[in-house]
Amino acid sequence: MEQTPTATPTPTVLDAVGDDDLRAALAEANLPTLQLVLAQLTGEEDWLDGEFRPTRTVALDDNDTAGLPAGSRARIVAAAFEVLRDVRDGRRPLPAAPSDAQLVALLSRSLGEDVPPEYGPSMAEEAGFRAREGLAWTAARPAAADRTHVLVIGAGAAGIATAVRLRALGIPFTVVEKNESVGGVWYENTYPGAGVDTPAHLYSFSFSPRREWSRYYAKQPEVLEYLADTAARFDLHRHIRFGIRVREARWDDAVGRWQVVLDGPRGARTELTTDAVVSCVGTLTEPVVPDLPGLEEFAGPAFHSARWDHSVDLTDKRVAVVGTGATAMQIVPAIADRARETVVFQRTPQWVVPNGNYLRDVPAGVRLLMEQVPYYAAFYRLRLVWQFQDKLLTTLRRDPEWPHPERAVNATNDRHRAFITRAMEEQLGEDADRLRDVVVPDYPPYSKRILMDNEWIRTLRRDDVLLVPERVTELDEKHVLTAGGDAHQVDVVVFATGFRSRRMLATLEITGRDGTTLRETWGDDDADAYLGITVPNFPNLFIVGGPQTTPAHGGSAIFVAECAANYAVQMIVRMIEDGIGAVEVRPEVAAEYSARVDAEHEQLVWTHPGTTNWYRNARGRVVNALPWRGVDYWRMTHHPDLADYLVRRADGSTSWTTASGS
Ligand code: NAP
Repeated sequence: MEQTPTATPTPTVLDAVGDDDLRAALAEANLPTLQLVLAQLTGEEDWLDGEFRPTRTVALDDNDTAGLPAGSRARIVAAAFEVLRDVRDGRRPLPAAPSDAQLVALLSRSLGEDVPPEYGPSMAEEAGFRAREGLAWTAARPAAADRTHVLVIGAGAAGIATAVRLRALGIPFTVVEKNESVGGVWYENTYPGAGVDTPAHLYSFSFSPRREWSRYYAKQPEVLEYLADTAARFDLHRHIRFGIRVREARWDDAVGRWQVVLDGPRGARTELTTDAVVSCVGTLTEPVVPDLPGLEEFAGPAFHSARWDHSVDLTDKRVAVVGTGATAMQIVPAIADRARETVVFQRTPQWVVPNGNYLRDVPAGVRLLMEQVPYYAAFYRLRLVWQFQDKLLTTLRRDPEWPHPERAVNATNDRHRAFITRAMEEQLGEDADRLRDVVVPDYPPYSKRILMDNEWIRTLRRDDVLLVPERVTELDEKHVLTAGGDAHQVDVVVFATGFRSRRMLATLEITGRDGTTLRETWGDDDADAYLGITVPNFPNLFIVGGPQTTPAHGGSAIFVAECAANYAVQMIVRMIEDGIGAVEVRPEVAAEYSARVDAEHEQLVWTHPGTTNWYRNARGRVVNALPWRGVDYWRMTHHPDLADYLVRRADGSTSWTTASGS
C-alpha cells in the first residue's frame, strides 16, 4: 500500500561528528529546542521544569537562552552532550516519537505558555512524525486508479505539494507549468534582495524538511533550489510539461470530464481530457503596473519587480522605487549601495517589526544540530508553528468596546503598536524628528501585511536615499511626478506595486456545468469557494491557494497549501475508491461556509475601518486572507466529508445525488 511520504526525524545521527565539534555545536543551540530534545531522548521532562523552565518566547524572538541563568544553561548543554554522545556511539537507542499529548505538553513547557491539546495531531504531521491520515488507499490500490487522470495547473509550491501526493498514491496526473522551471513565484521574483519573510525552517513542506538552510530567512535562490530539489527528489519532472499555459478548461457534462485547451511554445495548441483539475496557480502571479499617464514616454528602463530586468545596471543611476510593500522593502536596502540615489515613493507607510534573526546566517553549529541531532529540526519547526502561525491571530480581533479604534483594534494590538513604534523610533535615531511622521503608520498594526525590519529604516536614513511620501500620478520622459506636483528626475523606474491578487485564477477561462464561467461567477474581485477549494457548478475542480487562504496573520503558505492539497487528493481517492465520477459542492454548504468566513472577517483586523490592504475587494469584503487559525484550517480540510457534495456515479450515470443517495 502506497503511503504519502513523511519526514524521518533525522536522516543521519551525528555521523563522524567528533566530541569537540559536538560541544561547539551545542554551545550555539537554541536552548528551548535542545531541552525538548533532551527531554525526548531521556524521557525526563524535568529538563523543561524547575530551574530549567524556559521563559515565555515573545514576539519574533527565538529565545535562544531560554531566559535561563548561565549555570542552568551549562548543565543542560553538558547533559545534552553526554546523551548525544551515547546516541552517536550506539549506547542509547532512539525513542519513538512522542504521542500527541506528550508533544503538546513538551511544547507548552518549551514555549512557556499553554499549547492547547487540539494542536497535537497537526503538530505531529507537521513534524513528519506520522503521515497524513486519509492519504492512503483503504486497501490495495484500485484498478480504477489507472483509468483516472488529474491535471495540476502550476508547479510552484502548491503544485509540488499536490503532485507529490498524487505520485505517492499512483494516481496518473500531468502538471502543466507556464514557466520553464518549477518554483512559481520563487522562479519569477528574482529582484535584488528577494527572500522569504517566514522563517525558512517553517516555510517548507512537512514531507521534505531542509535541514541545511543557510539563513534563518532564506533568499530566493535557496528557496528556489529547495523547491527544485524537492521536485527532483520526488521524481516529478517526468509528470511536468513546461512552457504550457492552460488557455481554457470546460466541463463536459455529457462525459463527466474536463476538456482543456493548452497553449504551448510557438503557438502550438493542444487539447487534453481529464477527470479532475487542481488549480495551483497562486494569487501573486499577475503583476500590476499602475496605469499612469506618460508611462510610455518614460525614456529609461521601467519594469515591475516580478519582471526584474537584470540587463539594467543600476550603478550610478537615480532609481525610483514605487511602493513600500514587502517587495519594495527588500529591494531598496539591496540596491541602495549601487544606485547613485534611490527615490522611494510611498503611498502608505508600513509597520516594520524587529527580528534579530532576519538577516542572520544559521551558525555552523546550529546547522549541524539541525542536520544530525535527532528531533532537533522537528522541534525547532514546531516552536515556529506556534510562534509564527497561530498565536497572533487571537490578537487581531476587533474589540467593539476598545476606545481608540483609530490606532488599534484592541488593547493587545495597542500594546503591539507601542512596542513596534518604539522599535521603529530607535532605528530612526537622530532622524526621528525628520522621519517619524512619515515612516511610522497611524493605522492599526497588522491591518496590512506586517513587514520585517531588514534595515529598511536605516536605509531610509541614508543621504543617498530619498523618501517621497506621496502617490505617484504620472511619468514623463525623465521624471516621476507625484500628487503633490513634484517632479523627480530618475533614470530607472521599478514598480514594486503588487499583484492582481483579488482577481483569482485571473488567466484561466474555466467554464462550469451550466456554461457559466468562473469569472462570471466571481466577477473581477469577489472570489469565493468552499474551504477555499471547491465551487458550486464546477465539478471536480479543486483550488489550492484559493479564496481566503492567504495566511495573512503570519505563518507558512506552504502549510496552508498542504492542507488544501490533502483535501483535494483525498477527495480524488474517495472518488476512485467509491466509484464516483464527479463531485460538486452543494450550493447551500458553500453559501454557509462563505457566510461564516465573512462573519469571521467582520471581527478581524483586515476589515477595520480606515485600513487598506490587498486582501479586500472593492466592496470591502476580504477575498484573500485566511480568517482561521492554521489548526482550524488543518481540521476543516483533514477529512473531507462527502455529505458536503452532490455526487455522480462513475458508471455513466447523469444524475446527481447526495452522498447518502437522496
Ligand atoms: P503590495 O503589498 O501590494 O505593495 C504594493 C505597494 O505599491 C504598496 O506600498 C502600494 O501602496 C504601492 N502602490 C501601488 N500603486 C501606487 C502608486 N500609484 N503610487 C505609489 N505607490 C503605489 O505588493 P508587494 O510588495 O509586491 O507584496 C505583495 C505580497 O507578496 C506580499 O504581501 C507578500 O504576501 C508577498 N511577498 C512576500 C515577500 C516575502 O516573503 N518576503 C516578499 C515580497 C512579496 P498602498 O500601500 O498605499 O496600497
